[in-house]
Order: sequence, then C-alpha cells, then structure tokens
Amino acid sequence: MKTLSDLLAEGVAGRRVLVRADLNVPLDGDKITDDGRVRASVPTIKALADAGARVIVTAHLGRPKGEPDPEFSLAPAAARLGELLGSEVALASDLVGDSAKSVVAALTDGGVVMLENVRFDARETSKVDAEREALAAELAALADVFVSDGFGVVHRKQASVYDVAKKLPAYVGGLVDAELGVLRKLTDDLERPYVVVLGGAKVSDKLGVIANLLTKVDKLLIGGGMAYTFLKAQGHEVGTSLLQEDQLDQVRGFLAEAEKRGVELVLPVDVLVTAEFGNTEHSVVATDAIPADKMGLDIGPESRELFASKLADARTVFWNGPMGVFEIETYAGGTRAVAEALVKSEAFTVVGGGDSAAAVRALGLPEDGFSHISTGGGASLEFLEGKELPGISVLES
Ligand code: ADP
Ligand code: MG
Repeated sequence: MKTLSDLLAEGVAGRRVLVRADLNVPLDGDKITDDGRVRASVPTIKALADAGARVIVTAHLGRPKGEPDPEFSLAPAAARLGELLGSEVALASDLVGDSAKSVVAALTDGGVVMLENVRFDARETSKVDAEREALAAELAALADVFVSDGFGVVHRKQASVYDVAKKLPAYVGGLVDAELGVLRKLTDDLERPYVVVLGGAKVSDKLGVIANLLTKVDKLLIGGGMAYTFLKAQGHEVGTSLLQEDQLDQVRGFLAEAEKRGVELVLPVDVLVTAEFGNTEHSVVATDAIPADKMGLDIGPESRELFASKLADARTVFWNGPMGVFEIETYAGGTRAVAEALVKSEAFTVVGGGDSAAAVRALGLPEDGFSHISTGGGASLEFLEGKELPGISVLES
C-alpha cells in the first residue's frame, strides 16, 4: 500500500487530492454532540494542506435515502472542520454537480473544500458495480489523487471508498494506517491475558466476531443488550429484555465452544430492571430472578465488580459495545465501570465502536486513559473477524 508519507514525499503542491474521510458524527438538530471523528480526520487533511495540496473532502452522514435531504447535510461537519483547521472549509451544495465543480475550481494551494453528503447519491451504496463505478468516475474527475482515510467505512464496498480507488492513484491515509496498526497488535503476537468485553444492542451484528474471538481470547465478558440472549441460552428467564430468539442455537454453540476451549465466558450476575424502556425507576435483581414483566437496561453493581476484577490482570483488552443504555444516566453505571477499569489498567486497551467511543467521551473519561479509541465499529469488528476489508484490499492491489 502506498501511504500518505509516500504521497507527501512525491510532492502534492498544487495537486487536487480527494480525501475520503469519516465525518459521520452524532447530531442533535444541527449541533454535533461528539466531534471525535472530525478531530480524527484533521491530521491527514492538515498534512496535505500544509504541503500545498488542494484538498477535496468527501464523506457521508447518517443514512439518507440516496437523495438530497437537508437533515443529513454535512454543513455542521464542514463548519467544525474549519474551526479545527483554523481556516474556512467551503461546502459544495452537491456531490459531483455544478456546485462541486465550481468549489473545486476555486480551490487554491493549501485550501480545503468539502463535497455534500456522498450518500445523497444512490449510486454510492449501489450493489450494481456499473452504478458505483459511474459515480466513482465523476468523483475521480474532480481530483488527481485519492487518499482513503475514512476508517469507519473501509469495510464497505462503496463508490467513494472502493471504486474511486481504482480510478485514481490511491494512498492510505494516516488515520486508516494508524487504526490498522493498532488492530494488527490485537491479532499478531499479543500479550496475554487477552480479555474482550462485548456489549451493545444486537447479537446478530457481532456473531461473526464472537466465533472468531473464541479461538483467540482468554476471557470474554458479555454485557449490554446482547447478554440477555446468552442468559436465556443458559436457561434463565429474561423478562422483556432485548432477546434474539433466532440466535439462541448459535449462542448455545458459543457457550459449548468456550467451555471446550477453556475460554472464560463471563455474564452479568445482576442487572438493573425497569418496567418500560427509558423509565428511570428501577430495581436490582439477580440474573436468575428477572421478573417476567421487567427489562434489564444495565449490568448491576456485583457484575460491575466482577467485570472489573476479570479485567484487573489483563495485558490486552478490546472493548466494543456499552454495558447498558448509557444514554440515560441511570443506566450508565455499568459502562462507566468498565471504562474506568480500562483507564486503571496497565494493559494495551482498545475501544472500538461508535457508541462505545461516544460513551467514553460523554462520561467524561480521559481519552488518553486508553491506548486507542477507534473511529470504526463495524470495520474494527470485521478486521478482528478476519474478514477482508474491500476499502483496504483495493489499495493493496
Ligand atoms: P457500538 O456502536 O459501540 O458498536 P452498538 O451500536 O452495538 O455499540 O450498541 C449501542 C447501543 O446499545 C446503545 O445505544 C445502548 O443504549 C444500547 N444498549 C446497551 N445495553 C442495552 C440494553 N440492556 N437494552 C437495550 N439497549 C441496550
Ligand atoms: Mg453503534
């Protein structure tokens, strides 16, 4: 793979560089609630601009339906990027149309502009190769080289991630390079004990990675919404908690596999339950006594201690997925406890997952308390799963 350093060594002054960044930030109206991804995109963009490149940023935000939708405009991200760079970032009102062309034509050396949400064009995520390639050709026509720096999307075979890399000289950006370096440390010769903490909402998203992790980890701690499918598979009643019935057989298989391999699989022993989602009135019950009409929204105090004790002697930790509905303060305690255990730990600690990373920052934990906070959830899971990432392999060929 050719790197950003290679590109800078070649010289970029006056060249138009298309940078695929990941600016998919959470918004409240038009206010960014967590700017982590914008901040992570700055070093590559700044290095290019400082070297005199004409930088054209392309990115997506949310899930618009393949057509322009003001709700998903990149305007807040362009404004924030401008603040962080200390110079205005003009935003085209379209992706590859007249506005994009004129904004790019007006670029001067060292300037940075942004194209409007790439998912306003249905071809970006099309399953039809020719459609994606057509959009990629239009994007490529705006630039001279391509830098792939949106780690959160490298597992997607999309026009601005995959196809465009075939149409321009393509380089891996500094952020993607750094993320890959960290993830390789979790797969190559890692220091043991290796403990993985998984949580979040859906087991089905994470089944592939669990199967793979069972061959690698010493301990697997499971909290969050996915814990209930595991508890049910062990024969417990889980009331009205999140449950994926259709995954029960697979999860029973995981429990058996963990036992066979000597992997310590740790589940919550107590949970905070409530009558209705979002209701803050709650009680703490043991996981073998969840009432039929209640749902679990966080791991309980004993589980927090248990998880922290299992993390205490770890040398390597990967954490994906909150332990509870951390967006509601009442149910943020489990997530906070795991995050604090990681901050205290001497281990190599990696946090992956959009919500997990946002939780760390929302709870006010020091970002430098972790070895690495990844900008990509799905991408890091697919890497650990051993899957090929199209946005990376296209840069290798
Ligand atoms: P990440 O983005 O870090 O990979 P996910 O997207 O898988 O994490 O899951 C995050 C979501 O899981 C959060 O919005 C959180 O509220 C939710 N969640 C965690 N625990 C529960 C639970 N017990 N019941 C329902 N939702 C939960
Ligand atoms: Mg998420």
